[in-house]
Amino acid sequence: MQTAINHYPYEKPSLDHMQQHAMHVEQQACTLQHAWAKVPEPLSAQQQQHYQTNIKRLLKEKNAVMVAHYYVEPELQDLALATGGMVGDSLEMAKFCQTHPAETLLVVGVRFMGETAKILSPHKRVFMPDLDATCSLDLGCPIAEFNQFCDQHPDRTVVVYANTSAEVKARADWVVTSSIAIEIVSYLHAQGKKILWGPDRHLGTYIQNQTGADMLLWQGSCIVHNEFKGIELLHLKQKHPNALVLVHPESPTEVVVHADVVGSTSKLLHAVMEADHDTFIVATDQGIVHEMQKQAPNKKFIAAPTAGKGATCKSCAFCPWMAMNGLKACADVLQHGHQEVHVDDALLERAQQPIVKMLDFSATYQHVKQGKPLDLSGGKDAYATWLVEQHHAKRI
Ligand code: SF4
Repeated sequence: MQTAINHYPYEKPSLDHMQQHAMHVEQQACTLQHAWAKVPEPLSAQQQQHYQTNIKRLLKEKNAVMVAHYYVEPELQDLALATGGMVGDSLEMAKFCQTHPAETLLVVGVRFMGETAKILSPHKRVFMPDLDATCSLDLGCPIAEFNQFCDQHPDRTVVVYANTSAEVKARADWVVTSSIAIEIVSYLHAQGKKILWGPDRHLGTYIQNQTGADMLLWQGSCIVHNEFKGIELLHLKQKHPNALVLVHPESPTEVVVHADVVGSTSKLLHAVMEADHDTFIVATDQGIVHEMQKQAPNKKFIAAPTAGKGATCKSCAFCPWMAMNGLKACADVLQHGHQEVHVDDALLERAQQPIVKMLDFSATYQHVKQGKPLDLSGGKDAYATWLVEQHHAKRI
């Protein structure tokens, strides 16, 4: 039986609130309008080649590696791969940054991804094309208000999404990404823990529905996924009855209910590679379609609707902060060593613990799922035993 979803009884920090907040805080936050204004102009083929050549040379000279998110521009994804780096979702990026031997990381994505890389590898230098590239979930979860929320519910285990500042992570017991959130919350629920979740309310609702956990939700949202429309998606699905509908769980429930596959960007990508379908309707940032098209060149991808009668589209399925990343900025930061990520030492130490816990859980989960033996003696974490039990019960 599922417990009811508890909603935090104050208005979510809305987009307007975020923008007002950003105007009044000393630290200049990069709001939606600022982000669109900072998106680089398209480059000519000649300019693209010029910057690509420079970036390749500079990466070698600086012993640096380029790590890109699936939502950034195709030419950045391709360059990361061509230079021995990687393209992935935020969990894959975090793992790669932690384990790759390069001493310098160029993280092409949004601010929390660069911060996570720095938190996991404090001795490495981490650069980003533009440190102003943030995320509506991060902007909508200011630490002072989040601390207040946590203080009011000391009986709850604090679980936060990776799309948060280092300060919010430092306040958390666990950090999760959409790739491992259900498994971690299921484990905590099985231990009888009540959860305080932040910041994405749609992902929180989806996890609650999947796990039955008692979750109190911060009311943030992603401006990209929040724009997808349920009724219009249903109409599109009726026009393409043979299409497989892929939905990221940051989307509203009325969109998730029409999905054939719900999951992280990596899970949606795997669905494209594994399914026999020729056509896919994709409800996530359309940056992922570049990789989907590469993996399945003969298949057709249709963007899930952000418009229609109920449209208020501000993003049209493209993240403005992801779009701020460009080739010229990558070359500039490698050349001049600016836009470096710094995290205060004490904060870094506190934020590291819940991220490392997630990575350990994720590694153990993969290990157990593949049926590999696990030594449970010698004080292994309690979740290892639980994961083995789940595997024996054929639940994972
Ligand atoms: S797509 Fe949404 S969750 Fe991802 S970085 Fe942009 S605003 Fe944040």
